Amino acid sequence: MAKVMSVDSNLCLRCGLCASMYGDNFELSGVDGSAVVTSQNDIPEDMVGMCPAGAISINEVADEVDFPATNQDAESDDKAA
Ligand code: SF4
Repeated sequence: MAKVMSVDSNLCLRCGLCASMYGDNFELSGVDGSAVVTSQNDIPEDMVGMCPAGAISINEVADEVDFPATNQDAESDDKAA
């Protein structure tokens, strides 16, 4: 099983704590200011408890499921197909 981290933009307070602590994994979206996951590498599991809104979750998925790290990756994959 692989772990996949996600942010619920409806819960995110846009405080920037995750991006300031783990800039390799999160950034604040230019669209609505909510945090987005930029990398699934070295998932900072402690961030789940530190997010003041409880907006960050980590779920286990089957290893063969290939989730893009960002929406931008998904768009690139679509263009390549
Ligand atoms: S720490 Fe939580 S509430 Fe703050 S920006 Fe990150 S996901 Fe949003």
